[in-house]
Amino acid sequence: MNQHKISEVLADAKKEFDIANKQDSEVDARWLLAELLGCSMTELTLLQEKTLSDEIYLSFMNLIRRRLSGEPLQHILGYQNFYGYDFKVNGHVLIPRFETEELVEKAISIIKEKRMKDVIDMCCGSGCIGITLLKECADIHVYGVDVSNEAISITQENGLNLDVSDRLTLYESDLFLELPQLSVDMIISNPPYICTETIHGLSIEVKDREPNLALDGGIDGLDFYRRIVVEGKPYLKEGGYLLFEIGHDQMEAVCRLMEENNYQNVKGYKDLSGNDRMVIGHKQVR
Ligand code: GLN
Repeated sequence: MNQHKISEVLADAKKEFDIANKQDSEVDARWLLAELLGCSMTELTLLQEKTLSDEIYLSFMNLIRRRLSGEPLQHILGYQNFYGYDFKVNGHVLIPRFETEELVEKAISIIKEKRMKDVIDMCCGSGCIGITLLKECADIHVYGVDVSNEAISITQENGLNLDVSDRLTLYESDLFLELPQLSVDMIISNPPYICTETIHGLSIEVKDREPNLALDGGIDGLDFYRRIVVEGKPYLKEGGYLLFEIGHDQMEAVCRLMEENNYQNVKGYKDLSGNDRMVIGHKQVR
């Protein structure tokens, strides 16, 4: 029987990644092994001299093969951590991105400062935005909306897993078309915003493994902003806030769209990497 010493198994996985020219996936090998062993990454570094059973070794090599074939780490693990919470993900929803945590952070401070109660998470996908708001703001109710019923199922499951489903109402709807007449303090959205033409230039793992529906924002990437700015307004209370995540080159256009539709104090914000990332404004108070 072969001895599968952990340090050697990881070195073998690294070689495989090198051959496939996927050096940046090397750390994924450690994630996958830690997951299989049910330990943390730190604990794994202390186990380097230990050996794996044949069974664990074979399972590990199987996961490595899936990763080498281009399956995203999060699909293999089945989850992505967002704002400290684990969200179930699969090929039907966008994998939550770290940049989106910054939008959520802004939303939390506005909700707390203005003592808001009701929030729409438009294009909720995995539910990472709305559910995180529910975890962080005890008194609010979130209405999650997505056009994909598979995405709605994932949001529902994440709401149950994270124990907030009593404050979460979900609608399968093309933006506002199928919604009842709600009146909310905030609409927050990370809508699809990639220009149709540039999708083919994204990495294979994104364009082939994440849903086109969650990425494609139309010819200029602005289709969803155009509609949400107009169609969302009747759903906002006076003074209610609209928060968007945007692409790095969309700040001017999205600010203009909101201003043209009479939103007040419209401002753009950068993310921690210095890229334009968010636009926030509020409905006028008469
Ligand atoms: N709201 C989800 C997220 O931010 C999904 C976004 C989307 O599908 N465009 O991850």
